[in-house]
Parts: sequence; C-alpha cells; structure tokens
Amino acid sequence: MTSTRHDGDDWDLASSVGATATMAAMARAIATRTDRARIDDPFAEPLVQAVGIDLLTRLATGELPPDDLVERVAIDGAKVRTRFYDEFFVEATNAGITQVVILASGLDSRAYRLSWPTGTVVYEVDQPQVIAFKTRTLAELGAAPTADRRVAAVDLRDDWPTALRTAGFDPARPTAWSAEGLLGYLPPAAQDRLLDTVTELSAPGSRLATESRPNPRPGDEDRTKRGLDSISERWRAHGFDTDMARLRYLGERNEAATYLADRGWSLTVITTRDLFAADDLPPLDNDDLRMSDLRYVSARVGRVPLVRTGSSTNSVV
Ligand code: SAM
Repeated sequence: MTSTRHDGDDWDLASSVGATATMAAMARAIATRTDRARIDDPFAEPLVQAVGIDLLTRLATGELPPDDLVERVAIDGAKVRTRFYDEFFVEATNAGITQVVILASGLDSRAYRLSWPTGTVVYEVDQPQVIAFKTRTLAELGAAPTADRRVAAVDLRDDWPTALRTAGFDPARPTAWSAEGLLGYLPPAAQDRLLDTVTELSAPGSRLATESRPNPRPGDEDRTKRGLDSISERWRAHGFDTDMARLRYLGERNEAATYLADRGWSLTVITTRDLFAADDLPPLDNDDLRMSDLRYVSARVGRVPLVRTGSSTNSVV
C-alpha cells in the first residue's frame, strides 16, 4: 500500500511517485503501439518491461487490452502531451538554444530519440534511483543518447541547482527547460521554489514548458479523488497495489501559469481540450481527473512579443 507523502520521501520506478513515471511510459507504449502516426516512443515499452510491475508490463506490451484499465483519455493525453514537449524542444533548439534541462525526467527518452542539433547538452534531473535505472536499462538495450546527455541525480525539493551546476550546467547560457508531469507531485511551496529557481537560472533567451492546473472549484477535489481511487481499485484487482490519490498533493496552490507570468515570463497557453481538438482526437468524455482544463504552458523569459502559432484558442498571459 502506498504510504502518505512526506518531506524527504524517495522512490524507485516501482514505488510511490516513481511508479507514476512507469505509468506515463506505459501510456506512451500503448499510444505508440496503437497510433504510431501521432507518437513514436520506441523505448517506452522496453523500459516499462524492465521496471517489472506485472500489470503495467502486460498493458504496455498489449498482452492485456487497456479496456477499462487505462482510460482512453490517458492514452490520447499521452499523445498530445508528448507532441507538445517534443515540439517545444525542436523549436527551442532550432532557435539556437543548445542547453536543455528536463526536470523530473522519469522514463522520458527524449535524450535518446529526438534529433538534437550537434552540440546540444541535455541534462536530466530526477531522483537518484530513477536516473540510475534509466541510464543502465537503456545502455543494456543498446540505446545511445542523441545529445550530450548529463544527469543530476537529486531530489527537486533539495539543492538541485548545485547538482545541476556540478554536472556542467551554465546559467549564463539560454536554457530550454521542461517540467512535464511534475508539479502536482511537489508540495505547493516546493512548486513555487522550483519555479523561482528556474527563473533565477534562466539567462535571456531561455524557455520553459510545463503544465498549469486551475485551482479546484467546490466539488472538484472530491471528483478527482474518486477518479483516482477508481483507477487504483481496478489496478489493485489486477495485483498492482497503488493509491494514486495519495501520491499527489491535492488542494490549492499557486497556478503555475500566473506565477510565471508574475515573474516576467511571456506565456503561450493551450488547454488539453484544445490540443485534442487540434489533433482531431475525440473530446474528453470522462473527465473526473479534470484533464480538459489542464493548461500546457510554453514560456519565454522576459516580456517579449510572441508569434502566435497553432490553434487560435492559444492565449497569451
Ligand atoms: N516527466 C516524465 C514523463 O512525463 O514521463 C515523468 C513524469 S512522472 C508522472 C513524475 C516524475 O517526477 C517521476 O519521474 C518522479 O521521480 C519525478 N519527481 C517527482 N517529485 C520529485 C522530486 N521531489 N525530486 C525528483 N524527482 C521528482
């Protein structure tokens, strides 16, 4: 059974918050197998297999159909989310940024599967056991990084900037940052600190991609918790003992988009609902997890005029 979150808790890829990285990779594996035109992450399936959570392996490999075990919106969500961050990095590096930091890299394989321009350095930051497992497993699979990949194995509630600098990070150079699927697993104050630190370490020209969830309206939290409990129950019935609702920090927090805008970032924001529509995916039906309102944020340091691209529903904060 999942224990309650606390300061200084840690994990591997089969336990606590670490298992959410395996769940995210499982969704990418299913999406890759069933819709390769929209997403192609060839490392997702073998990474999930290597972690060895039986239920997630059987789902990732297709031995067990997702049916009522993985919501369709989670699989389609993985498609739009992966594309959003892939495109963010392609645009940032095409614009000349050569320093990339992937915060909470989990089982993300971008450092191995994107075509990074020559000279790009990709830093991955996550808990030590997560970093060590992915590095070792991909090496065993014969995969080689497509950039100069460096790692900072550290807790993001601790002094991660020192670990990042030790790995070679240069705050004087523009950076493309991502914090994908991370913020809800940080306590509210740690989220603020993380965004403050990213802001401090961002030289002019830097960019950041992340997600921002609107604060809950009355009743929303109960609905989210019911949705998470329902997933946990179905998974428990298949032998995977997790308690999704206890892994996240639910409740009020500063909304990342507003917080970043207040600190001088210029943002382009698009909701999951609009990303689904832009990709001709069926609308979100069961939205207990409030995915449709989740906002994908692409930010640039400073109050620079932004060129609007893509959906006309993009808004600039
Ligand atoms: N970004 C990856 C992706 O989208 O596939 C992983 C997302 S997974 C939902 C959450 C990740 O956040 C895990 O890899 C976990 O280890 C990492 N994480 C959460 N809190 C962390 C912390 N305090 N320090 C380091 N990593 C953390």
